[in-house]
Amino acid sequence: MEYMRSIRKRNLVYRGITVIAVVFVSLFISTFSGSSTNAREESQSVNQDPDLMEQKTENQKRTYTIQEGDTFLGIFQLQLGISYEDSLVLIEQIKEVFDITKIRKDSIISIIEKDSVLISFSYDINNTEELLISKTENGFSVERKDIVYEIKQSVVSGVVSESFYSSGLDAGLTDRMIMELATVFAWDVDFTSSIREGDQFSLVFENRYRNGEFAGTGDLLAGRFVNEGNEFFSYLVKDSKGNNKYYNEDGEATQRLLLKTPLSYKRISSGFSLNRKHPILGTFKTHRAIDFAADTGTPIETVGDGTVVYSGWNGAYGNFVKIDHGQGFATAYAHLSKIYVSKGAKVKQGDLIGAVGSTGRSTGPHLHYEMYKNGALVHPLETKSPSAAPIPENQKPILEEAITKYKEQLL
Ligand SMILES: [Zn+2]
Repeated sequence: MEYMRSIRKRNLVYRGITVIAVVFVSLFISTFSGSSTNAREESQSVNQDPDLMEQKTENQKRTYTIQEGDTFLGIFQLQLGISYEDSLVLIEQIKEVFDITKIRKDSIISIIEKDSVLISFSYDINNTEELLISKTENGFSVERKDIVYEIKQSVVSGVVSESFYSSGLDAGLTDRMIMELATVFAWDVDFTSSIREGDQFSLVFENRYRNGEFAGTGDLLAGRFVNEGNEFFSYLVKDSKGNNKYYNEDGEATQRLLLKTPLSYKRISSGFSLNRKHPILGTFKTHRAIDFAADTGTPIETVGDGTVVYSGWNGAYGNFVKIDHGQGFATAYAHLSKIYVSKGAKVKQGDLIGAVGSTGRSTGPHLHYEMYKNGALVHPLETKSPSAAPIPENQKPILEEAITKYKEQLL
């Protein structure tokens, strides 16, 4: 997971909340997915070993959720019944492939037993790798291996009614996939203020299953978004390092130097409804900036990579951050209640830089957002920043293939 941007320490608290929300919503969705009507699935690869299936019916499976303060040593003895001596030996084996201090709270250990005797157990290191520990004649074998998922593709489409977020949920999307779609189109569509009733969305994405059970969504393969009559397409092409890159049909990167908005849809989406007051307060004409209405404490993300050139009190601006993004672009964020970056710091697109407030000359909590191009103030929502590099020549056939495969499903 952590599909888009680098994690920074300052983001962890918010990420944590997001993850919990995703887990809750995923559970809800998987429980009720049977009643979803507009999602259709087709099996892509089936990875079931008949022998394993056979075995599974005889073995008992249980899980243990790692608690605050747990250690492998404690879990092995108390939850798995392994002796102290054997646990120490096993930990030495594990240390060769995994840093045991990285054990994560809330992650799950899956235990397989037969007649209450331990056969094997696994610990998920992350969403792609697991530690598999199996009992052998004279001890344990420890393997670090890729998690095998069965992948099914889903196609979901919908029309925005109350909000994009709630319409996405109504269409059967998980919280995570709604955010992923918003992220993929975040350079073309301002999800915090320009979404309208009647906007359309459709997407092809992966659902992952592990031992027959829903294990979350995988990649967003292709998407279409119609915002105020403008139609956008985006297709996934993995680069040579395996990173996800998205391109339109002309092979242009949908990713740009700057995001459309510094208020993360990921973090405020559920509160945004088209029936609520329009979140943009002041217009550009009146003060050459955009004011976003948002509660005090709402996280603010930098719209692009760059260097912090101002951080601190700035008269009527109150707490103020300005970031130079290169290529002649800079952005500024005013009236903040909190600042999380210092002057000179390097930031990545999407990094948390501060929180909405009402400091300086301000009548209430809002984000005053400015954009500079070659030193002059420009309209942040109407100025297109340069695109990332277009698709490399040798990857064009992959994009063509994706368009052929998915475009019809998106329409
Ligand atoms: Zn303002």
